Amino acid sequence: MHNHEGTSQLATGDSRLGTKRRADTSLLGLLRLILQGAWSICVGLYITALNFVRPGVCERYPRRDGKPDWKPRPGYRGDFALISDPERPGGLRCIACLQCQNICPDQCIHITPEGKGKERHPKQFLIDVGLCMYCWLCVEVCPASAITMTPDYETATDRPEKLIRDIEYLRERGKEFPEVLRVEMQLRESRESEVASPE
Ligand code: SF4
Ligand code: SF4
Repeated sequence: MHNHEGTSQLATGDSRLGTKRRADTSLLGLLRLILQGAWSICVGLYITALNFVRPGVCERYPRRDGKPDWKPRPGYRGDFALISDPERPGGLRCIACLQCQNICPDQCIHITPEGKGKERHPKQFLIDVGLCMYCWLCVEVCPASAITMTPDYETATDRPEKLIRDIEYLRERGKEFPEVLRVEMQLRESRESEVASPE
């Protein structure tokens, strides 16, 4: 019974479709189709023209435009750095809690911890930048604001093993970009205090 109704409904639908198709091949239908086609071409050309005169949002590789001092805009996620703390063992803020290692979806962080309690720090800290997808999760999860990304965008190399950062490299990066890291930490700390006291 059901099948029969379904078949008859389908037949009705088909017959309606057939009627519509026949209507579209009439002179009026053809004229409508031509006008719709012309209108869609005009809309396409209008959008193309609009984007042609709009200021660009993409930038060419800076050195091609003779801008050796060019810097990425704020928020750019470049090479990694560990933030220093001269009063802590190892000279880094990192407490080797492994949260960044555990959250990393690409498993590109490998930490060897050393020491206990307040003395705990990373003996080795490896990041394989070649695997990283720059999702920022490791930075967000860090309870000590110890890891961040610098605006350094020049990480290309011809050998994959050169993309593995070790603790010495990450420590030096932290020294190379002190101002960026300071601003980053201030932003994070103000965000954390806003979350802690929403009023
Ligand atoms: S940015 Fe994402 S993928 Fe890269 S190391 Fe951090 S958590 Fe892993
Ligand atoms: S989450 Fe932060 S403190 Fe914990 S191991 Fe990673 S960098 Fe160090």
